[in-house]
Amino acid sequence: MSKESVMLIPCSGIGKVHGLIGREAVFKVKGELRPQDTDLACLAEIVTQDAEVQERMNGRLTITVDGCPKMCAEKNVRLVGGEIFASLRVVDAFRTHRGAQAGSATELTSDGWQISDELADQIALKVDEARQGGKGNG
Ligand code: SF4
Repeated sequence: MSKESVMLIPCSGIGKVHGLIGREAVFKVKGELRPQDTDLACLAEIVTQDAEVQERMNGRLTITVDGCPKMCAEKNVRLVGGEIFASLRVVDAFRTHRGAQAGSATELTSDGWQISDELADQIALKVDEARQGGKGNG
């Protein structure tokens, strides 16, 4: 894995559809859209200050994806000194989908997949900006 690859950290959000949308979006970026340019880490390993994860994060730009305004991923990456390039929120992705029925904490509807896919596209663009030396919004 390239040292310049961008770290992607989704919140855990286990009990909410917002968390599932965020995780699926991140998995699409890593699995399909920008596999060579990204790396994943588990939020729990960051919260527990896992030494191996901290080493992997060291010197890399990070994009956090949070399900709701509590911003668990962003807050915890900041707590361990991670360098946040961009912080995205699933709730913002809903703004262009008023009234959407996105599904549940365990299963997305077609609306939910559409929101997740659009969020994945946004994340991929942020990855490109980070790799090109952009300023980010973190
Ligand atoms: S940001 Fe919101 S959805 Fe995500 S883990 Fe925290 S409380 Fe749950």
